[in-house]
Amino acid sequence: MKLPVHKYGDPVLRKKGVPVTEVTPEIHQLIADMFETMEAHHGVGLAAQQVGHALQLTVIDIRPIEDRPSTLELDGKPADPNSIMPLVLLNPVVKAVGAPEAGSEGCLSFPKLYGEIERPESVDVTATNEKGEALAFRCGGLLARCIQHETDHLHGILFIDRMNRETKEELKPDLDELQAATKAALKKAKK
Ligand code: ZN
Repeated sequence: MKLPVHKYGDPVLRKKGVPVTEVTPEIHQLIADMFETMEAHHGVGLAAQQVGHALQLTVIDIRPIEDRPSTLELDGKPADPNSIMPLVLLNPVVKAVGAPEAGSEGCLSFPKLYGEIERPESVDVTATNEKGEALAFRCGGLLARCIQHETDHLHGILFIDRMNRETKEELKPDLDELQAATKAALKKAKK
């Protein structure tokens, strides 16, 4: 089932996710729904907060973006990043490896808004997958950027928090408008 995506201004986006310790049937269903929602919006990553759940859970599939390369290392050996797609990460922990690099980012909670964000070019990731298996890998490029963006969501951090002042200033009118529209919609829904 496709779920509504919560937009900037919704307080759930600022909530830190609770660790997922057991993959219950409800969590399995949520994962399936999150993939369906992400694909419907042509996204490459979606965090549980974006569909209204403050959980340490994100789904990722970078395959739709073919013009921005990624790298993957499994057990210290180069591997095909597509071999681990689609990717479910529960309770991910990300450690910076590479030097910071600027790159364009968007977010399904900020429709049509894009900005240059500086993030480490590569990261070490540990997490659990939907089968309860431990994952550990090093990745770079788009995949590293995507995982860092989504892991931020799980801690209530949004990509606008990592924009430089000039970029955020430029986007401010659009951000204010989006925030006001979201708040108005939430208020209306409550009535
Ligand atoms: Zn996002």
